[in-house]
Amino acid sequence: MILYTKDISDNIRNSIKDEIIQYTKNFRAPHLVVVLVGTDSASIKYVNAKKRACEEIGIVSSVIELESDISEKHLLAEIEKLNCDEGVDAILVQLPLPKHINTNTVIMAINQKKDVDGFHPHNVGHSLLGLDCITPCTPKGIMRLFDAVGYDLEGKNVVIVGRSNIVSKPLIGLFLEKNATVTITHSKTRDLKQHTKKADVLVVAVGKAKLITSEMVKEGAFVVDVGINVMENGKLCGDVDFDNVYEKCAFITPVPKGVGVMTITMLLYNTMLLYKNNLENFNRNKI
Ligand code: NDP
Repeated sequence: MILYTKDISDNIRNSIKDEIIQYTKNFRAPHLVVVLVGTDSASIKYVNAKKRACEEIGIVSSVIELESDISEKHLLAEIEKLNCDEGVDAILVQLPLPKHINTNTVIMAINQKKDVDGFHPHNVGHSLLGLDCITPCTPKGIMRLFDAVGYDLEGKNVVIVGRSNIVSKPLIGLFLEKNATVTITHSKTRDLKQHTKKADVLVVAVGKAKLITSEMVKEGAFVVDVGINVMENGKLCGDVDFDNVYEKCAFITPVPKGVGVMTITMLLYNTMLLYKNNLENFNRNKI
């Protein structure tokens, strides 16, 4: 079955929208600020998509556009301003950043209570320990898919291809929490197929079109294709050779209309969580 995620996503977005309607009877709307450094066309596209999604459900979103040659010091100062602004609930720094800026330093500068991407070490650590935290959007969106289709992960062999901090590593903890057995693979893994072939659940987050071919996938597998690749004709495709793989899968997410939609939905969800948390603190301070 091809798992188009629009319906799952719409359900979540509609319930956030309803919540916002209730909250804004008494309070200001949630506010997400996206910091965009430079003019990378893919980044601009992602930022615009995020902004549109926010507007559709009543989240205020602002974009701070900064020159690509901005110094790290100046960028950190911008972030600090946002950290201190009570009218800002959520901060997202669009990645990748220009090479002269240390991404980890920037992520660590974001107040963990406004870290909507869940990339701050505080949130990463809490997530791994199974404590309350903001979980990164893509991994969180992927986990929602299993819930939505009623797929029980207990005892399943999950193989993740790729070991990024933003997608693959957070997934390890989330799958373990569901009692799955997790294998993580990467560019130095020997005989990738030997691993992927055993996967009941195969998550691919690499960024190489058609890396996963039909003979690498087990019959009846649940395949989650995270990759986004732009083909010569300008169309998007994932990391899985979709046309030759989908028929043997119990479920497979397409690219586009798959994981990417869930990532944005979870951004809205995380913004709402931070907003509610911010309001609670605000009310506590008033008392
Ligand atoms: P990165 O781009 O940071 O890293 C890619 C990973 O793939 C690395 O761990 C690398 O291994 C591994 N890799 C590279 N070649 C191979 C190979 N031949 N076999 C096995 N592993 C390999 O990962 P991201 O998670 O940031 O992004 C991955 C893809 O997902 C990209 O296409 C990105 O655009 C997309 N993406 C999509 C999102 C969505 O919402 N749909 C959200 C985030 C990302 P090593 O560590 O050894 O170098």
